Amino acid sequence: MVSRVIPVDNFDLVIFGGTGDLARRKILPGLFRRFRAGQMPEDARVIAAARSEHDDASYRSEIEAAIKEFGGAESKDRKGLKAFLERLHYVAVDARGDGGWQQLKDLMRDGVVRAFYFSVAPGLFGDLAERLHTHGIADRDSRLVVEKPFGRDLKSARALNATLADHFNEDQIYRIDHYLGKETVQNLMAVRFANVLFEPLWNSHYVDHIQITVAETVGVGGRGSYYDKSGAMRDMVQNHLMQLLCLIAMEPPNQFEADAVRDEKLKVIRALQPIDSHHIVRGQYEASEKTASYREDVENPKSTTESFIALRATIANWRWAGVPFYLRTGKRLKARSSEINVVFKDLGHSIFEGDEARHRNVLTIRLQPNEGIDLQVTIKEPGPGGMRLIDVPLDMTFAQALGDEADDVTDAYERLIMDVIRGNQTLFMRGDEVEAAWAWTDPLIEGWEARHDVPKVYDTGSSGPEDSLMLMHRDGRRWRDIKG
Ligand code: NAP
Repeated sequence: MVSRVIPVDNFDLVIFGGTGDLARRKILPGLFRRFRAGQMPEDARVIAAARSEHDDASYRSEIEAAIKEFGGAESKDRKGLKAFLERLHYVAVDARGDGGWQQLKDLMRDGVVRAFYFSVAPGLFGDLAERLHTHGIADRDSRLVVEKPFGRDLKSARALNATLADHFNEDQIYRIDHYLGKETVQNLMAVRFANVLFEPLWNSHYVDHIQITVAETVGVGGRGSYYDKSGAMRDMVQNHLMQLLCLIAMEPPNQFEADAVRDEKLKVIRALQPIDSHHIVRGQYEASEKTASYREDVENPKSTTESFIALRATIANWRWAGVPFYLRTGKRLKARSSEINVVFKDLGHSIFEGDEARHRNVLTIRLQPNEGIDLQVTIKEPGPGGMRLIDVPLDMTFAQALGDEADDVTDAYERLIMDVIRGNQTLFMRGDEVEAAWAWTDPLIEGWEARHDVPKVYDTGSSGPEDSLMLMHRDGRRWRDIKG
């Protein structure tokens, strides 16, 4: 199978923060891959802007090194890399000063898509948006990409939305949640809405519960001081896990179009119920022989920020009445694994003598590792010896099912940036969605702050605190194993 790459319109993409970590690790290597795939028009350009002094040549050599480090096997294509680097330009600009802006303006071309990627701290968004307008660089057709975190609570998210709205309309703003750019996440929508098989079962009559796990083996790394002010709820649940929950729980939109999809996601967030404190478990990782504890990592011996959280959410609507959604995410867990499990109800009665297991169909949507989808079904164990039943996965691992084409699976960032150029907002969060998500999480955070809740410790390399296992045991259920 040969994959189809549809070139996007010609563009000038300005990356504010073009010297930063995200630009070097994700954005530019991703653009390079799209360039190699033939998706970038011949004379599309990427203009990096930051305060550091560079000319085009020195910036290009910095990015050449970054692409060799982070760009995977494709960076061995020296000819392609050289051609890509020629697309890069650099302008020294201070978001809070006036130098460099005229030079940036002079570089920009008319008649191509203008996109501005704010890969800088959110505190600079307002300054950048304002200067783009006062210098006449952005107009009604320009697009703006903003990174997480989008606020740290409802109040700050509203303020950020208002700042951007002073200069840009909502249909120009692309709030990135890279989880939405993952191939499997989009496939989840295809599985749900393009197959007759699942939708009739996708409700409280047939689904027992849903589990969403995003487990990491890494600690907070160099982000300690940022992370300690944030924690797993703000850093992961409010955005990534809630977006996954929305895609599982939303009603079918009437068409696969940005606002139709986002309207349905918003309804889910608004239907999420408040959570009792005993349905939330927070944790902090302990030191292991080789690694430091959370508190040592963030250099705050009294920190009460969580590096792990598990919670049981419910959605008040007809489809999901009585179906718990168990969410958990944490650092320094036993494996790096992100998956969604839709666990169907058991049959209630088995016609097979001696079969006492309560077999359940489980649809697993694996985001990492080995992106793919599998469906656990019950079959007869092969061989003689009567009707013994076993549960086996009907495996749709992309690498097996799609062969070479799976190697071509586009990384989330590349896909999302190309969507910006295409003007397709379907996989980006709308301002009201982000605010609604904070409106749900704020009271939970305020609740544990008011109770002076201290996170439970858990062993590095474990599945999280014991209490998080109890969260499900109490309901007569158990988490699926975290497997890498
Ligand atoms: P970073 O490594 O600290 O880079 C920040 C960038 O902003 C640098 O290029 C810096 O360049 C530029 N900058 C700082 N002050 C400036 C000013 N006054 N005017 C113009 N440019 C300025 O940060 P990052 O990790 O790349 O993150 C960028 C954004 O993405 C942040 O909002 C972060 O939360 C978000 N994000 C990052 C990641 C990640 O994996 N890194 C993941 C998700 C979200 P100069 O010093 O040269 O000006």
